[in-house]
Amino acid sequence: MTQPNPSALEALQEDADLTRFNTFGVEARARYLLECHSVEQLRAGVEFARDNRLGLLVLGEGSNVLFVNDYPGLVLANRLKGIVLEGESTLRVAAGESWHALVEWSLSEGLYGLENLALIPGTVGAAPIQNIGAYGVEVERFIKRVVVFDTELAQEVIFDKTDCAFAYRDSVFKRARRGRYLIIEVEFELLTRASPVLSYVPLAERFGAADATPRQVFDAVCEIRRSKLPDPRLVGNAGSFFKNPIVSASKVESLRGQGSDVPAYATDEEGLFKVPAAWLLEAAGWKGKVRGRAAVYDAHSLVLVNLGDASGEEIYLLAQEMASSVLQRFGIALQTEVLLV
Ligand SMILES: Cc1cc2nc3c(=O)[nH]c(=O)nc-3n(C[C@H](O)[C@H](O)[C@H](O)COP(=O)(O)OP(=O)(O)OC[C@H]3O[C@@H](n4cnc5c(N)ncnc54)[C@H](O)[C@@H]3O)c2cc1C
Repeated sequence: MTQPNPSALEALQEDADLTRFNTFGVEARARYLLECHSVEQLRAGVEFARDNRLGLLVLGEGSNVLFVNDYPGLVLANRLKGIVLEGESTLRVAAGESWHALVEWSLSEGLYGLENLALIPGTVGAAPIQNIGAYGVEVERFIKRVVVFDTELAQEVIFDKTDCAFAYRDSVFKRARRGRYLIIEVEFELLTRASPVLSYVPLAERFGAADATPRQVFDAVCEIRRSKLPDPRLVGNAGSFFKNPIVSASKVESLRGQGSDVPAYATDEEGLFKVPAAWLLEAAGWKGKVRGRAAVYDAHSLVLVNLGDASGEEIYLLAQEMASSVLQRFGIALQTEVLLV
């Protein structure tokens, strides 16, 4: 690694407040924080962490994390900006760009595919981490390559789509040691001809057999999401707290045998079914439950909210209570989608 320019560390903050760096809005502190507007700053941060034996945590907009404790290492907040259109439909996008702004921009350029993923909070660099998905589309469908800074090799590495090992809310980046891969750019291959995906029930109900333009799908997705999900600028939350569990056919049969009408959707893997975690939680009576200053959103049992000044620990304890009640009642272990720090 080349020696970083010392001025790249000028913005380094010590004992930094992370409240505005997580959409739950919980109070937590980082031993160090560096907001990175250039790859040089990222590299300098990595070197600083290595020299001082500090853990590394990269954050975008903090819309998928819960700080249960303070972070004793260095937080790198990714603010890299830039979008380059190559050829007709290839986009190279810097990791710190806003995801929703990219979706809107691509539509306005006549490039399609991302419209079902409108209004997902966060940055472009975080999108591959858990292979963001909504309304029948996962981002992997449009990712061509991901450029990372590999902190173990101390160099940039390119992951082709197949190297990313994308799966449901999962990727090679999510499974790697925390802080190993810093995503700096994502390359997308979008569609120049509209091919709307209307398979998801709320969209199928709305459009029926009629054709919908990508702009109509975008508007519908925004409207449905606004009616179901709390706006993190108004109510602290991180979207779905748990993943939808994947269970065997025999598990579904046994639950139905016990009189439960649990929904189950076939996955790409034979004999495995996805069960909506929201259904399990609602059946266990969690919708709208309040524990101190933490609560389950009253319009969506998968979303935990900060009613104001909740600590990360309060939210975490509520989540644990929810997961253990689902385990007891249905014998299904819920896994968190949100990163617990
Ligand atoms: C209201 C609401 C609705 C949501 N709806 C959805 C949804 O429909 N579908 C969905 O999939 N998600 C959803 N989410 C979750 C969240 O928006 C996504 O996971 C998003 O991609 C997180 O982006 P971020 O920039 O905030 O990432 P952060 O929360 O900052 O980070 C998330 C994870 O990615 C890592 N990370 C972030 N940036 C980088 C980088 N550049 N390099 C390496 N690692 C990085 C972090 O270390 C962390 O592990 C929702 C969240 C909210 C609040």
